[in-house]
Amino acid sequence: MIDLRSDTVTLPTAAMRRAMAEADVGDEQRREDPTVIALEERVATMLGQEAAVFLPSATMANQIAIRLLTEPGDEIVAHATSHIVLNELAGAAVHSGVATKPIASADGRLDAQEVREASTAGNLHQAPTRLLCVENTHANAGGRTWSVDDAREVVAAARSAGLATHLDGARLLNATIARQLAPKVYGALFDTVTLCLSKGLGCPLGALLAGSRERMAIARRLKHLFGGALRQAGIVAAAGLYALDHHVERLADDHAHALRLATGLRDAGLPVETDHVETNFVMIDAGRLGLQTGPALARCQAAGAGLSATATTGVLRAVTHLGVGPGSIDEAIEAIRAALTR
Ligand SMILES: *Cc1c(COP(=O)(O)O)cnc(C)c1O
Repeated sequence: MIDLRSDTVTLPTAAMRRAMAEADVGDEQRREDPTVIALEERVATMLGQEAAVFLPSATMANQIAIRLLTEPGDEIVAHATSHIVLNELAGAAVHSGVATKPIASADGRLDAQEVREASTAGNLHQAPTRLLCVENTHANAGGRTWSVDDAREVVAAARSAGLATHLDGARLLNATIARQLAPKVYGALFDTVTLCLSKGLGCPLGALLAGSRERMAIARRLKHLFGGALRQAGIVAAAGLYALDHHVERLADDHAHALRLATGLRDAGLPVETDHVETNFVMIDAGRLGLQTGPALARCQAAGAGLSATATTGVLRAVTHLGVGPGSIDEAIEAIRAALTR
């Protein structure tokens, strides 16, 4: 089976496992793990921030950021199909006691005007809007990226409305490879930034939250509070350092594979918008073929291609990653075509 369900299905390579086995480690809660510290410093610099905190997951990084930048009773603004809104189990309400105002704009982006209109600051009868969350790449929109100008504009609008800003950059490196930009071009714009290691970067687990030294000192306390403080975590951080050395430039291969997959499927007559393929996601609108998500996924699976559901009814997703070689793409095109055009 060609597994295109997600880039989370990647397995650590032999070389990554060697780097993990050879890592210098210590008790990271005592700041005695040199590999964790090296990864935190490297990611902070890469993202244009002063400091970073190594965490078990990007979900925890987002939740710590929200807790850090809000008070109970506040409101946050995020895209209606963002991971924070759809995939974190109302964590913002549970962990931080905040309400979420979802905005549903095209392609996972929000604009300055929408942010200004969403902000209630100053109105005594409404929860004060305190935080804007941006997702880049935006997963549920199909791995779409933000232009730097759009990101700058929305952050400026948030700042002038008195909002803090968080970037859920779980797949930020896909965005920066696609747009040929340094990660700090986006990273430095926001108060806090999440980076996930266990997606296209191919690590078994791990994420980082970056921000100012002062904020990351608080984030480190929240990491304990959330139960995420670890011990000899350098074993995992070593995979992160390895991935930053060896798995970043190659994201361009995943993007090229996604575009080839999309083009092949479109040429086979399937409803795929090739213009929308900016990174490693291909969205296939099986609904337009009269198929429902569940049966469409089952047909693809039976034909040898693992796809997954999306936030949009009838739309399937294929995600390329380091476990999918160029030879698999033609096979995947044929399997998906046969499954959906039967
Ligand atoms: C996967 C994902 C996360 C969560 O990452 P985990 O490490 O699985 O918790 C957060 N945000 C986005 C946009 C994601 O795609």
